[in-house]
Amino acid sequence: MPSQFEIGNTQSEMLVDSFGRVINNLRISVTDRCNFRCRYCMPEEGMVWLEKSELLTYEEIARLVHIFGEMGVSKIRLTGGEPLMRKELHLLVEKLARIPHIHDLALTTNGYFLAEQALLLYKAGLRRINVSMDSLDAAKFNLMTRRNYYNKVWAGLEAVENLGIRPIKINAVLIRGVNDDEIINFAHLVRTKPFIVRFIEFMPIGMNDGWGPDKVVPSKEIIERIEKGTGKKLVPVEYHGSQPADRFAFEDGIGEVGFISSVSEPFCNHCNRVRITSDGKLRTCLFSLQETDLRALVRGNAADGEIKSVIRGAIAKKEKGHLINRPEFVRPSRTMSQIGG
Ligand code: SAM
Ligand code: SF4
Repeated sequence: MPSQFEIGNTQSEMLVDSFGRVINNLRISVTDRCNFRCRYCMPEEGMVWLEKSELLTYEEIARLVHIFGEMGVSKIRLTGGEPLMRKELHLLVEKLARIPHIHDLALTTNGYFLAEQALLLYKAGLRRINVSMDSLDAAKFNLMTRRNYYNKVWAGLEAVENLGIRPIKINAVLIRGVNDDEIINFAHLVRTKPFIVRFIEFMPIGMNDGWGPDKVVPSKEIIERIEKGTGKKLVPVEYHGSQPADRFAFEDGIGEVGFISSVSEPFCNHCNRVRITSDGKLRTCLFSLQETDLRALVRGNAADGEIKSVIRGAIAKKEKGHLINRPEFVRPSRTMSQIGG
C-alpha cells in the first residue's frame, strides 16, 4: 500500500492490456469541427457535426482525466477536429494542468487560431504544441487544406516561437506526388528554425481521402532522400520507445526530424495510448471498430470505481495492432477528425 505521502499509482491500478502494454497516454478530442478541409482528412461538404450537448463538457473531461491519472495516465494530448475552435480551450488546459498525475499536457492544432490564443494557452499551463503544416509553399498548402490560411498558420507558429516554447513540432503528412517534393525544404527548415518536423505517413482514415498504398511515402525513403539532398547523415535519437515518432538528428547536431511510420513500420507493439472522442467514447486504437461509452457513465452519475472498471475492461480488449496492410482491413466508421488524430 502506498503511504499517504506517495503520489504515484499502485501497481494494481496501472492500465495494462492483454499484451502487457502499459497505457499511460490519452488523446482527447474536444470537438469534431474544423475550419480547414484538408483533402486527406475531410471533404469540402457533407460532414455532419455533433451537437454541442453531445460534447463532453470541460468538467466532464477533467473528471475523466482525473480518473485516468489515478490509473497511470500521465500524458494528455488535446486534439480534434480543430481543438482551438472549442470556446476558451485555455480554461480546459488550466483544469488539466492542475491534475497531479498529469506531467505532460500537449496540443495538436492546425495553427489557425494560435496567434491569438498562444499566450492564453501558455499561461494556462500548456507547454507542448504540435502544428500541422503539410507544405511550405503557400499555393500547395492552400490546395491541400482547401483554405487560404498559410500566412495565418505561420503567424501562429511565430507566436509560439516568441513565447519561447521549445521544441515546436510541425506535423507534415506526406502524399506521394503531392508534397513529397518538399522533403528537402522541410529538412532545411529544421536546420534553420527551432522546429522539429514529424513526417506522418498517409493513413486510410479520412473521408474520401484518396488513400492508396502507392500514395504513402515510407519513412525509410524519406530518410534516404534527406541524407542525399542535404549531404548529412541522420542519427537515431530514440529508437521505438513507447513513442511512435522515431527521432533522428542531423550528424552535426543541427536540426531534428521525426517519423510516424504507422503504415510502413507500425508501432502497435509499443502502443501506449488510447483516445476519447469529443462525444465521450473511449477508443483503444485509432482503427478500432468498437467504442466504449464513457459519457453515458459520467452523465449517469457512475462512481469513479465503476468508471475505472469499465475502462479496465475496454483496455483488456485493446487490439493487438491495426490491419492496414492486410486484406481484412476495415476502415473505422468514424474519420480521423471525428475520432481525434
Ligand atoms: N486539426 C488539428 C490538426 O490538423 O493538427 C488536429 C486534428 S488532426 C485530425 C490531427 C493530425 O492528424 C494532423 O497532424 C493531421 O495532419 C493528421 N491526419 C489527418 N488525417 C490523416 C491521414 N489520413 N493520414 C495521416 N495523418 C492524418
Ligand atoms: Fe481539420 Fe486537422 Fe482534419 Fe485538417 S487534419 S481538416 S486541420 S481536423
